[in-house]
Amino acid sequence: MQISNVNAAQLRLDLLAQLRKEHPRMCRKWFEDIEVLGISDGSIVIFLQEDVQLNYLERKCKDQFVEASQLITGRLLGVLFVNSKEVDFQNSPITPSWSGSVVTDDMLISPDYSFDNFIVGPGNQLAHAAAIAVAKKPAKAYNPLFIHGGVGLGKTHLLQAICQTAMQSNSSMKIYYVSCNGFLTQFLESVQAGEMSDFRHKFRAFDMLIIDDIHDLSNREQTQEEFFHTFNTLFQSGRQVVLSSDAPPSEIPHLEDRLISRFGCGLVAGIDPPGFETRVAIIKKKAALRHIEIPDDVSNYVAARLDQNIRQLEGAITKLQGLALLDGSLIDLAMAKTAISSGSGLINAPKHLSIQDILDVISTFYDVKLVDLLSKRRNKSITMPRQVGMWLARHHTRFSLEEIGGYFGGRDHTTVMHAIKSVNSKKTTNDQLDQDLVRLQNQLATDAE
Ligand code: ADP
Ligand code: MG
Repeated sequence: MQISNVNAAQLRLDLLAQLRKEHPRMCRKWFEDIEVLGISDGSIVIFLQEDVQLNYLERKCKDQFVEASQLITGRLLGVLFVNSKEVDFQNSPITPSWSGSVVTDDMLISPDYSFDNFIVGPGNQLAHAAAIAVAKKPAKAYNPLFIHGGVGLGKTHLLQAICQTAMQSNSSMKIYYVSCNGFLTQFLESVQAGEMSDFRHKFRAFDMLIIDDIHDLSNREQTQEEFFHTFNTLFQSGRQVVLSSDAPPSEIPHLEDRLISRFGCGLVAGIDPPGFETRVAIIKKKAALRHIEIPDDVSNYVAARLDQNIRQLEGAITKLQGLALLDGSLIDLAMAKTAISSGSGLINAPKHLSIQDILDVISTFYDVKLVDLLSKRRNKSITMPRQVGMWLARHHTRFSLEEIGGYFGGRDHTTVMHAIKSVNSKKTTNDQLDQDLVRLQNQLATDAE
């Protein structure tokens, strides 16, 4: 094999710098673990210690690496990710002879989703402790482990952390992580191809089977049947099963009773939304992973506003990162205010909201009665929520001013216009109001999911 005459260390630095410049949002701190071995057969050969990292780069970042390699070298190079340094440089001039595998299987794990990167708080403490126990002692601690919770609360993160930890501590163990939809697809494909015995063989040979979003089995009778047998085979032979879902077993609609009882026979752990402190800690962790500095006042500001799910926190960090890059400045509070104010569009409240959705959210949020919102009463405790409701209706529905007025107790369009203007002007000076608006929009977005 020919390793061309390049300085591998320099190549590595150039490559990382190029990637950071062109794809800052993709880059992670652990990218620094990559080692450039050299150029061989028209490819930059990049070594990674961890298979999880290798798989991830191969699947998610290959094009960006190729593009960056070509830019910095001015040559039409490819990129080869490898997990072994045992390269026979002399004896094999043409074919690479890496002894390690390149991409081994069809499972994609994010290296970010490790226990180290998981912030523990009151809402996820039990799920986290159980996940650690299962990763350390598969099939000994809790079997099955069933983790449930709302969208973006860390279920996938915990499941993949179990996977990575178990793989690291026992490399001979056969571990498989798959989404329920992935399981479904593989099952249907096997049925169609008449290869059910291969399918069964594959799934029943795992020492640990981790299936994400198992609620997707809802209404899939045939797949439920197959999964039941897979589960029993694994369970009875002392293999670990880990599942996640958006609801506890008994609340998954259209799920067979026998599955409900199987799912509940180990440990069922729920995850609740993170409190303020946990959200702040998560923001800091995510920022550190991306190598960006977020001052305390900014993380507090973001955490106070985005309280529904953690994906929104990540969205905010990405947005801040983008803004900072755009004008080459550091992230500060003013920037956070632009990024996350109520009119910023960070919150993607759905388009097809009904006014009733808005009234419901307003009445719960401000603890006012629906009849009062629609009444002629004019005490401040009612007018303010009412105006906020009109503002939300104007921003998140397609109704005209007249129609909105009609819904809000038969008011005319000038009243609605006045309400919107008043909210717009107050929210620039009243931080609490701005924060409330963001949270209400969040709430509407989450309810509609
Ligand atoms: P779910 O599968 O429950 O919908 P995810 O596991 O995909 O949620 O989490 C969404 C995002 O939030 C991910 O980027 C994940 O890393 C992050 N996240 C969730 N909980 C935590 C936590 N406790 N600490 C750090 N990051 C978290
Ligand atoms: Mg998930």
